[in-house]
Amino acid sequence: MNTPAPATICILGGGQLARMMVLAGAPLGVHFQVVDTHADVCAAPLAPVTATRWDDLVTLGRLAAQAQVITFDYENVPAETARWLAGRSHVAPNPHALATAQDRLAEKTLFQKIGLPTAAFRAVNTRAELQQAIADIGAPAILKTRRMGYDGKGQYRLQSPQDADAAWAALGEPAALHGLILESLVAFDQEVSVIAVRNRGGDFRPWPLTRNHHVGGILSMSIAPAAVPDTLVQAAFAHARKLAEALDYVGVFALELFVRGSELLGNEMAPRVHNSGHWTLDGAVTSQFENHIRAILDLPLGDTTARCPSAMFNWIGELPNAAAFLATPDTHWHAYDKAARPGRKVGHATVCAPDQAELQSRLQQLAKRMDLHAKVAPLLT
Ligand code: ATP
Ligand code: MG
Repeated sequence: MNTPAPATICILGGGQLARMMVLAGAPLGVHFQVVDTHADVCAAPLAPVTATRWDDLVTLGRLAAQAQVITFDYENVPAETARWLAGRSHVAPNPHALATAQDRLAEKTLFQKIGLPTAAFRAVNTRAELQQAIADIGAPAILKTRRMGYDGKGQYRLQSPQDADAAWAALGEPAALHGLILESLVAFDQEVSVIAVRNRGGDFRPWPLTRNHHVGGILSMSIAPAAVPDTLVQAAFAHARKLAEALDYVGVFALELFVRGSELLGNEMAPRVHNSGHWTLDGAVTSQFENHIRAILDLPLGDTTARCPSAMFNWIGELPNAAAFLATPDTHWHAYDKAARPGRKVGHATVCAPDQAELQSRLQQLAKRMDLHAKVAPLLT
């Protein structure tokens, strides 16, 4: 009997998302080839890494030819590179979906087209356009680079129109070359995200809605399932499904939403597995990483049901001592094998429990043992 050759997935970008894809793909017998601009990346201990530039089409073309499918850990791989590769190999998500998610203006324009409201926004390319945008949408507002922003970087908050000069000085040059967007500041009640997967046949599955807490623009903690009314959950899923269908999306993606009263506003999407879906590794029947691999290899999707309530903590800058966490039942530690550095995501941990009351009690105990009060406080309200 012939054993079929294992599938190879080429991942562009070698950070912790690639690392966790490799960990999820190994039991499925999948092989990986990782590409990044540096060889010394987080996925390197687990998969072969080729270091090259994103415009080195000779190397990228050779690697693509050896893979069944090319996917992304890094959403800012140039869209032209993704388009070129898609002409030679299977790329998932497709280059149009990647390009749309790379540009906040295209992204928000699409949200409105599919009937998902957003904060008021204006494209800004010059100082005069910034003035006009402030006159149109008012302050407080956030000026953001259209491209390359992550973890709250490339953003400036304007409390009043008088902050326009400072905002322009911070972001106007040279970001204006690639464009800016001014958004009104949303006084949201909470932030949530839909993590969902869609396969080539159009099977669409969301995981339970996730509630997110950001500190200084960086995701600090997520809890799932989010305690919001079912009508809002269903509306969020319907928006995510429409978005996936509009983009003919294949793979896992995240849709970040603001909840304001009974309203949902679209903030942004990520065309990849997402930090706010890390709880699915331990708290769902199938993780976002495994389902991403299943979707892009055209395998049946796994069940996205939560097996229990979960809380996920991001470790930013340095890892705390694992022992206090590991002493708590149904608690899971994920270190990314990264050197400590301020602002850097170096790992996460997830606490699971049979029900919400037990989750709260485990979190309270943890907060006593570790310096977690700031992270846990919003959960205990
Ligand atoms: P990431 O990639 O980490 O999700 P990012 O840098 O791409 O983030 P955003 O998601 O747009 O940027 O912003 C980061 C956080 O800043 C949001 O999660 C939210 O807390 C806050 N924020 C962004 N835009 C707005 C807005 N218009 N109104 C209110 N808060 C906002
Ligand atoms: Mg975001």
